[in-house]
Amino acid sequence: MSLDQNWFSEEHAGIGSAWSARIKNKLFDERSPYQHVEVYDTEGFGRLMVIDGCTMVSSLENFVYHEMMAHPALFTHPDPRRVAIIGGGDCGTLREVLRHPGIQRCTQIDIDQTVTRAAQLHFPELCEANDDPRAELLFIDGIKWMQEAEPGSLDVIIVDSTDPVGPGEVLFTPEFFRACHAALADDGLVVQQSESPLVHLELIRNMYRSFAEAGFSDTQTLFFPQPIYPTGWWSATLAKKQGTFAGFREADARAKPFATRYYNHDIHRAALVQPEFFRQAFGD
Ligand code: SAM
Repeated sequence: MSLDQNWFSEEHAGIGSAWSARIKNKLFDERSPYQHVEVYDTEGFGRLMVIDGCTMVSSLENFVYHEMMAHPALFTHPDPRRVAIIGGGDCGTLREVLRHPGIQRCTQIDIDQTVTRAAQLHFPELCEANDDPRAELLFIDGIKWMQEAEPGSLDVIIVDSTDPVGPGEVLFTPEFFRACHAALADDGLVVQQSESPLVHLELIRNMYRSFAEAGFSDTQTLFFPQPIYPTGWWSATLAKKQGTFAGFREADARAKPFATRYYNHDIHRAALVQPEFFRQAFGD
């Protein structure tokens, strides 16, 4: 929905709110077999990628999301080397993962090549690690790739997906989580974008149930701001294959050999602190 031709606007289903940005130009508009992909040049948020009418990535604030989808999980795992990203076609999470020198291979599996092509054209800064010899970019349905992955072959799985509608719906199911559980090594973990803690609490609760049903032994949720997403407040939920979460490699995070713009060890610790309503909702 757009206010008029000078504005892009996304109406947030079910919560009676919307997010709008004044646009200077439309740069990309393609319908793939899976999704409708658009890119706008906006006045205040730089480039803006939209999939099926939902905001995905903006030049102004994508660093928060991409850093929080990658670094907390990688600094929580004892020694991550083999990573898979399901979704993430804009390539920003891939860039953050490959900042970690210990990573030997990172496979990005997105269902839609159009997203990556739009990113290469209009978000080249996000695609700067695409030619890294450790990177592999595949265009397949994430659940199919995960169900065919070699058992125990992954250390960390990052699910950087769209909302649980359309092609992204299957990525929030116990079937998909079971496939992730099988593909992970014993000390492995998965992290998944888990929407807004304020208005999608039921979705997060279902994710906790589905992770447990799929055999994961522990879950934890991180909270962070994301201005272009509904309510401006977002989350990522981690699930551990075996054992319980007991902190993260704080010394390594403090001494990380690469620059970030949002993530640091203090932000990591703070992002794990649950607001009272969340504690009550999850009985912690
Ligand atoms: N940050 C965004 C968010 O939280 O909404 C996600 C960004 S990323 C662009 C989302 C990606 O998920 C898209 O590129 C889309 O093609 C991909 N995707 C959706 N369903 C998928 C599936 N079943 N398998 C693999 N990738 C999928």
